[in-house]
Amino acid sequence: MKPLNFDVFFSNNEWHMATKICNVGGCYESSIIFPTKDEALKEALYRTNKNEKMNVVGMCEDCRNDFMDDDWH
Ligand SMILES: [Zn+2]
Repeated sequence: MKPLNFDVFFSNNEWHMATKICNVGGCYESSIIFPTKDEALKEALYRTNKNEKMNVVGMCEDCRNDFMDDDWH
């Protein structure tokens, strides 16, 4: 199987396909929830085949908060 452009991961008892990732901490900013891993992988494959990629954002809210905590206190 070729590498997928979308990460599939398990969290809170649900399968997620990440649609948005932050390039600072690699946090998943948004994802689509699927009932099974197969469905998540199917969607990830479908989008990969359409040459779609995860939306990469510069710095997410979490990382910004960490950054502020580190540098401003
Ligand atoms: Zn982040």
